[in-house]
Amino acid sequence: MSKEIQIHSEKCKKVTNKSAAEEIQKRLKCGNKNFMKGKLTNEQEINEQRIRWENTQKPFAIVLSCADSRVIPELIFDTELGELFVVRVAGNIANISSIASIEYAVAVLKCKYILVLGHEECGAVEEAKKVAVTGKPAPSDNLNQLVGHILPAVNTCKCTSSKRKEPSLKNIIIENTYHSASELVRCSKILQKAVRKSGVEIHTGYYHLASGKVEFDKKSKC
Ligand SMILES: [Zn+2]
Repeated sequence: MSKEIQIHSEKCKKVTNKSAAEEIQKRLKCGNKNFMKGKLTNEQEINEQRIRWENTQKPFAIVLSCADSRVIPELIFDTELGELFVVRVAGNIANISSIASIEYAVAVLKCKYILVLGHEECGAVEEAKKVAVTGKPAPSDNLNQLVGHILPAVNTCKCTSSKRKEPSLKNIIIENTYHSASELVRCSKILQKAVRKSGVEIHTGYYHLASGKVEFDKKSKC
């Protein structure tokens, strides 16, 4: 009988919204490793978690991620109820609603770590690229509004790629996480002040669909 190889999950160190950004990122990376192994530690005690957070919430991080059904931050980082404040919108864009939600988590819930999470094969970014390349608008006004938030990232990548070559989707996706991160600061006085004076940090991530790995603060080649 062959010996079964057990890949165990790691018990990630608990962090709070008062932990240093470095510690929070370590916690996210630890949870992501468990997710990649398919060994979530958060499968039990759900009933207990619901009761614990009945009257309050103290998430240790904010995640601005895409609405894509394959990108679920709470699973990706192996977190419990009440640990992540997740804002999801196609293309992980910084628009009025996502910025306002993040302002709440920073100003009221005192979160100091923000992660803008992009992902491989993002349909919203693909649509923005299509609009930029063909010059044809997206099928609806609403979608055009959304795509408008991603076009600056497409244009940055277009400027740096050779004339004959289209910019790669991956680079645009990564560039778009940086663009959203900078928009959060540019478009919100609350977030601007929080970053400059209260030690709030904004990071970016790139999620790989098959492996489940999140690469943190990856630079685009744009
Ligand atoms: Zn997406």
